Amino acid sequence: MDRRTTRQISIGSERTGIVRIGGDADVSVQTMTSGSTCDIDSCVAEINRLAAAGADIVRVAVPKRADTEALSEILDQTRVPIVADVHFHYQRAIEAVEAGIHKIRLNPGNIADRTHVDSVIDACAERSIPIRIGVNEGSIIERKDKKQRMEELGKFFADHRQGHLMALMITKLEEYLEIFESRNFHDICISAKSMDARLAIDTYREISKRFDYPLHLGVTHAGPRETGAIRSIVALGTLLAEGIGDTLRISYASDAAYEVEDGLEMLWSLGLRDRRGAELIACPTCGRIQVDLFQLVQDVRDKLAEHIEVPMKVAVMGCVVNGPGEAEGADVAVFAGDRRGIIYVQGQRVANVPEEEILERLLEECVQFQSRVNDGEAKLGEKAVDILPPDPIGELGSGSGSIAKGTVEQISIGKT
Ligand code: SF4
Repeated sequence: MDRRTTRQISIGSERTGIVRIGGDADVSVQTMTSGSTCDIDSCVAEINRLAAAGADIVRVAVPKRADTEALSEILDQTRVPIVADVHFHYQRAIEAVEAGIHKIRLNPGNIADRTHVDSVIDACAERSIPIRIGVNEGSIIERKDKKQRMEELGKFFADHRQGHLMALMITKLEEYLEIFESRNFHDICISAKSMDARLAIDTYREISKRFDYPLHLGVTHAGPRETGAIRSIVALGTLLAEGIGDTLRISYASDAAYEVEDGLEMLWSLGLRDRRGAELIACPTCGRIQVDLFQLVQDVRDKLAEHIEVPMKVAVMGCVVNGPGEAEGADVAVFAGDRRGIIYVQGQRVANVPEEEILERLLEECVQFQSRVNDGEAKLGEKAVDILPPDPIGELGSGSGSIAKGTVEQISIGKT
């Protein structure tokens, strides 16, 4: 996938490691804490939990003086780059910089006095701290002369159903960038978030043509995970597939760990990051199913997340009819049927167990396979032999009695 070339910025410290954004760096995944930053213990616990989930960068809100006062202790107890999210109070940005924060997120539009924005820029420049300039659709609509502005701005993207909003976000960004560039500050990342997926796609496309600063992608206020995932991933996935985007946050009205999990899964699916942990393939089930596959898949997923670090493919299939074809490429696979499961490792059958033992045995095989990969005895994606589907009638289709006997029944169809 060709990625659009952007300038590169770096965030972090020796303690946290440096995360690069833009240029040839991997697309990074960000999220934000939801607790009060000044509650140091719970803030640290939340940041560490999100970092363990895979977050590359974590943002915290600093609306109060007490929040910036807590920052140096929080920074001491965490090992992931942290961004201070500043709205309205420029002093919070300066205080965060003094506390050693790794990056500032600023919307210059809600800091009325230009000299205040200047002082934040100077403080960041002095310590080489990057700033994300973030405009959001919701925070840029000018209320006073909204109708007139909409008509004026709508002319720029006249054939777009929300052209005035695109124009407004881009105009605002240009205006803000001028402030930063006039002070020779280029350690910048930019975002222009909308709650509408189509508007987000079109705005980021347009921005990527105009500026070479790295882009932070996001669909803001996307809602709960069930619907927010679709809205976010359709927009961000489209942009990333076009090579647009250097870092991202998926925003849910839910546990932020899901934002990280889904952001990473999107990047892995697009081949933009190396997968960490197992990739689970599972059949959607149909009328052939003879085990509780949904529960099994969920349990397998949880166990793999706990025990497997190498990016092996694991397939959980409901039957032996189509399962082998559908599980092609899996390193470890189970085909279930008639309350039993046959387990394969790289094409070789290794077990045939009753339903209640499938989870444990499958995990055991995955852990063993992981050790062999780590010891260089096995290679991911290789197959010793092609999986030969067991006879659906004899082995799994007609019950464990047949499996035990190892017999294969013959059937005839049609009429003479
Ligand atoms: S693997 Fe079997 S049970 Fe699952 S969807 Fe395919 S045919 Fe149906």
